[in-house]
Amino acid sequence: MSAEYLSIKKILSQPIIDCDAEIKGWVRSVRKSKKFSFIVLNDGSCQATLQIIADATIDDYENISTMLAGTCVSIVGKLVESGGKGQKVEMQASQVEIVGKVDASYPLQKKATSLEYLREQAHLRPRSNLFGAIFRIRHHMSMATHRFFGDQEFYYLHSPILTAVDAEGAGEMFNVTSLNLNNLPMKKDGKVDFAKDYFGKPANLCVTGQLEAECFALGMGKVYTFGPTFRAENSNTPRHLSEFWMIEPEVAFMDLEGNAKLAADYIKYLINYTFEHCPDELEALSNYHKFNAKQNGEEFVDHLTVLDKVRKSEFERITYTEAIKILAAAKHEFEFKPDWGVELQTEHERFLAEVHFKGPVTVTDYPKDFKAFYMKQNDDGKTVRAMDVLVPGVGEIIGGSQREEDFEKLSARIEEDGMSKNPLWWYLELRKFGSAPHSGFGLGFERAIRYITGMKNIRDVIAFPRTPQNCDF
Ligand code: ATP
Ligand code: MN
Repeated sequence: MSAEYLSIKKILSQPIIDCDAEIKGWVRSVRKSKKFSFIVLNDGSCQATLQIIADATIDDYENISTMLAGTCVSIVGKLVESGGKGQKVEMQASQVEIVGKVDASYPLQKKATSLEYLREQAHLRPRSNLFGAIFRIRHHMSMATHRFFGDQEFYYLHSPILTAVDAEGAGEMFNVTSLNLNNLPMKKDGKVDFAKDYFGKPANLCVTGQLEAECFALGMGKVYTFGPTFRAENSNTPRHLSEFWMIEPEVAFMDLEGNAKLAADYIKYLINYTFEHCPDELEALSNYHKFNAKQNGEEFVDHLTVLDKVRKSEFERITYTEAIKILAAAKHEFEFKPDWGVELQTEHERFLAEVHFKGPVTVTDYPKDFKAFYMKQNDDGKTVRAMDVLVPGVGEIIGGSQREEDFEKLSARIEEDGMSKNPLWWYLELRKFGSAPHSGFGLGFERAIRYITGMKNIRDVIAFPRTPQNCDF
């Protein structure tokens, strides 16, 4: 009789009992006694483990009862109602096959493994309880994203990853070339001859898909992108990656008001969806943070309580000018003095979200001098229709704006910024042919995952983090 191969998720969710089954996964622990052993198995399908009772009478019992944590096994047996507390189902094994052994050098054996250590073991950390939880949540947040926009009649757009435009005008791009770097073709003026390069001109990895999304919004109405983004900024912080994923909705006929509402709705939807689909994962994370707080002698604030409040409340709304007033009046030592005209630093963003508003806050109407050229200019001549969403613990999670739809104003702004109009000819033409008011934003996916998992370092919520001086695995 062949037993059906089932996931632990399926077995526990039904639950399936009084039936033979085969399970495959990685051993968490083995507790041996003379007559039988308890094997605790996880297969990655869910947070829970399954307990298997292996009788001393089964084949190869000596090897099985001394397996090390991390061993890969395939087990056939009968699923029965569990007598023990907690678990509904356990398995009475009739056959245990060791698929892949481990030896004492298996890096994940130690009980207390620091996040720094696990980053060096990025190939093995998917086996851990913690990373299983984080990456199942990441999966569900991706699904939530498609559901949220799909349900509102947005179309999913795949914007290009290779581009010749520096969309943010920040110059923090990775160059892409097929030239031989050890033997570059040079022009007479001593500069590299990019005419000989693959695309006949310099090309980069995208920092955003926004400009392309605007083309589609002004044709299909509502679109969103969800793809990888690359920034060669030298930021070694817990919230910056060199390669990260961004979700960028772009909507025709939507102003900044609508944009701010869409952003808040989306964040709340992500929280609600995760609460609904990942309760075990969230609980595991909450316990993990609680344990850590205790270890470090810190006060424990359950991030789930905070998220629960956020999903039920309105996001605060202030202008940049109001934000500066709040910061200037605050009894708080800032490293950078808050002054009108200067960029909000992370310390300012976090003060606003964590100390002042104690929740998410949307800041709008920033000075144009440090915002991108495509943002709609306000009548005051000084500010633009920009918005950033700031959340406690992370800081900026969303950056967006209403876009400048006026051809003349956009042209003037590009010139003012000293940018070249040539590569942007098509983007400018959007404003010449059937232009319309439109808005959009970019949500940094890993920052959102940090927010919902409560993890403190962005390197722990992406499979294989790329940061300055680090591109391993
Ligand atoms: P920051 O000031 O925090 O570096 P930014 O202003 O450069 O962010 P935007 O250009 O507005 O960010 O990008 C949109 C969103 O993408 C941000 O709100 C953030 O969530 C995310 N993001 C930006 N840069 C990074 C990065 N290097 N790593 C991870 N996420 C990022
Ligand atoms: Mn940045």
